[in-house]
Amino acid sequence: MSRAAHPAGPRYADVLPAGGVGAPPADLNALDPKVWPITAARDEETGQLTLGGLGVRELARRQGTPAYVLDEADWRRRAQTWLAAFGDYSRDEPPVHYAGKSFLSKAVARWAAEEGLGLDVCSGGELAIALAAGFPAHRITFHGNNKTVEELTRALDAGVGRFVVDSQQEIERLAQLAADRGAVARVMVRVTVGVEAHTHEFIATAHEDQKFGFSLAGGEAAEAVRRVFKHRGSLELVGLHSHIGSQIFDTAGFETAAHRAVGLLAAIREEHGVALPELDLGGGLGIAYTSEDDPEDAFTIVASLKAIVARECFGYSLPTPRITVEPGRAISGPPGITLYEVGTVKPLEGLRTYVSVDGGMSDNIRTALYDAEYTCALASRTSEAEPMLARVVGKHCESGDIVVKDTWLPADVGPGDLLAVAATGAYCRSMASNYNHALRPPVLAVLDGAERVLVRRETEEDLLALDLG
Ligand SMILES: *Cc1c(COP(=O)(O)O)cnc(C)c1O
Repeated sequence: MSRAAHPAGPRYADVLPAGGVGAPPADLNALDPKVWPITAARDEETGQLTLGGLGVRELARRQGTPAYVLDEADWRRRAQTWLAAFGDYSRDEPPVHYAGKSFLSKAVARWAAEEGLGLDVCSGGELAIALAAGFPAHRITFHGNNKTVEELTRALDAGVGRFVVDSQQEIERLAQLAADRGAVARVMVRVTVGVEAHTHEFIATAHEDQKFGFSLAGGEAAEAVRRVFKHRGSLELVGLHSHIGSQIFDTAGFETAAHRAVGLLAAIREEHGVALPELDLGGGLGIAYTSEDDPEDAFTIVASLKAIVARECFGYSLPTPRITVEPGRAISGPPGITLYEVGTVKPLEGLRTYVSVDGGMSDNIRTALYDAEYTCALASRTSEAEPMLARVVGKHCESGDIVVKDTWLPADVGPGDLLAVAATGAYCRSMASNYNHALRPPVLAVLDGAERVLVRRETEEDLLALDLG
């Protein structure tokens, strides 16, 4: 693409890399409601960002930066919307399971419990947080391709509702552990349907080269089902599970997945005379990280998933199974922001301005790991300055330490200003590291003008306590 033909227009053609960021927004102070939490607003007097009725300047003064801030009202509303999209369901078997790996703390587990969600965990640590919060064990589903004997034991003893089995060894292991206890574990078989979905496209393949699940095409899924049925006394097969990817924007990938999974349901009825009652279509429902993203609403997605599964089942004269989904980021992503303070600003003539904040890849690895895009705004005030092409970077010893790769910020942004990055409620704190011995930021919840610390900031004492010299 020639520089003069840059989509951002001739005015910016000489400062923009080809294929980079689009034109600056008409109003740099505006907060796109698609991207920012529902209670996000600008304080009329100070221009600062407010969230849950609290100004971020006061919040930063009291709690420090960087900090993750969760809009509790938004989180709960998203949970309610996903459940409402399903209409009627049994309170003990909710059709929506929150993927705890996106972010889980005791308070968030309680929000999920109160709103009536199920909960997905995929490690002993996530299970421990859920149980410590008093999350009803029968609404928990345990995922993972290598659950340890200790993890399976604890989950069985706690009465976890579903085990998504992922290998032949695990089926034997779980059957043995359940038999030892005289318990019956409810099991779903994770099926690799040969669909890989990423953002705007999906790829359907015959065979999947990945660690999760039992391949459908290779016949391993049918074999896993046979194996589970062999352990009728200790395992109860309730259905199939499929998860095709993340940040998915349309239902085409789910359509192919459902087509193949229902094919297996039909084959199971043929072979075993049983119509399995449940089909879990996984998570991966997309959210708007930037104004360019256009996710469908929960009602539209659920209606089309139901229609797809009903149509596929009709084709085989199978009863329609109960459908479940497992949104993580679609519930916890948009309600969360990260607040940073600007430390240095470095204009690179003819290129862009590097704005350094007091966090980075230790609190948000997604930009470095997945080339993720984010929306960033000056949060401590408004500004009428010209837009400047900026890259928001962290303080780590690594040039790939980028928080927001390309963004427009007011040209007068400087040290001491607060920046907010939107849609960081999912996969930021949960994937945070201590790289460079960074202290992981706190998670604050804001609601009706008050904040609550859900997870406190790490301290140097925490670092030193782990280091036994
Ligand atoms: C990661 C994951 C999810 C949640 O994915 P999101 O993109 O956050 O919705 C759901 N189910 C399974 C099995 C997963 O691995």
